[in-house]
Amino acid sequence: MLNYLYQEQNWQAQMSDLITDPLELLEILELSVDQLLSGAILASQQFKLRVPRAFVKKMDIGNPLDPLLLQVLPHHLELEEHKGFVTDPLGEEQANQIPGVLHKYKSRFLLTLTGACAVHCRYCFRRHFPYQENLPKSEDWLNIKNYLEAHSEINEVILSGGDPLTLSNRKLALWIERLESLKQIKILRIHSRVPIVIPERIDEELVSLLKNSRLRVILVVHSNHPAELDDLTCSKLSYLAKQNILVLNQAVLLKGVNDSAQTLVDLSQRLFEAQILPYYLHVLDKVKGAHHFDLGAEKIDQIYKDVLASLPGYLVPKLVREVAGENNKTPLFGVTTF
Ligand SMILES: *Cc1c(COP(=O)(O)O)cnc(C)c1O
Ligand code: SF4
Repeated sequence: MLNYLYQEQNWQAQMSDLITDPLELLEILELSVDQLLSGAILASQQFKLRVPRAFVKKMDIGNPLDPLLLQVLPHHLELEEHKGFVTDPLGEEQANQIPGVLHKYKSRFLLTLTGACAVHCRYCFRRHFPYQENLPKSEDWLNIKNYLEAHSEINEVILSGGDPLTLSNRKLALWIERLESLKQIKILRIHSRVPIVIPERIDEELVSLLKNSRLRVILVVHSNHPAELDDLTCSKLSYLAKQNILVLNQAVLLKGVNDSAQTLVDLSQRLFEAQILPYYLHVLDKVKGAHHFDLGAEKIDQIYKDVLASLPGYLVPKLVREVAGENNKTPLFGVTTF
């Protein structure tokens, strides 16, 4: 029990000690302040720097182009306007009927219980999404329940974000219990980047909560680069897999971060060592401020071809884009019309 308490404090202590000052981040990495052109400070005011120390430890000291650093450090290029890059590329504001709920795909239902993330990823489409006004309160459960019951085709609830694993185990337990009370719900899916940036989040209490649920539990983590998967992270995630929790990974293809077939091959192999299967490789959402991560169709095609040629099928993530208004993620490669 003492051990639980220690770990619980440990991840929560990490959550309350995040790095939010770009200058501090550069100092830890022994990088010069010149890395930050003036616009970067403004960019960080629009979408704050936010990164756990445990994630910074996985970065290379003295490397301004470290692929993990590039995902979190505010950049002056974020201020540029580019045609087609907008604040709500997925039209999510419209899909929102009950606070915190998104039901776009037939059998599954996305529930956002918190707007908070442990890390702010510069490419994220949620950087402009107004979640704070839009979270379910306890009394909204009745509406959610009614909605689910009126849509018997829904058998899976996805906790997404924000990042659901920034919630306490107690709060998660409450929502899981509510979902378990509905017979139609068979699968609980959790989409989270927290295990990658604060692996201690996978504490005993969380593991026992998930493994004792009536629901089939799937954890979809979000790792873009093999350097994110150090030994602690891998051992925490393979431990979950050993408890019969399916662990999958989704990544985003990002210029300067993981835009080579070799990096993606290494990522898949590292995931597999940790008993995680690659699930999706997302093409960047065209969100305002993320244009400098965009690769262009030709380059994406070439990289993905090389990945296909290098890995067994079960280690190749599906290359997809999310298209507003579509009924599913849109596959981007090898789609033949018969
Ligand atoms: C991505 C997404 C899902 C999950 O899609 P899968 O293809 O089942 O992984 C569900 N709902 C919404 C709104 C989504 O954006
Ligand atoms: S929702 Fe995911 S990708 Fe977006 S900022 Fe949060 S952790 Fe990063």
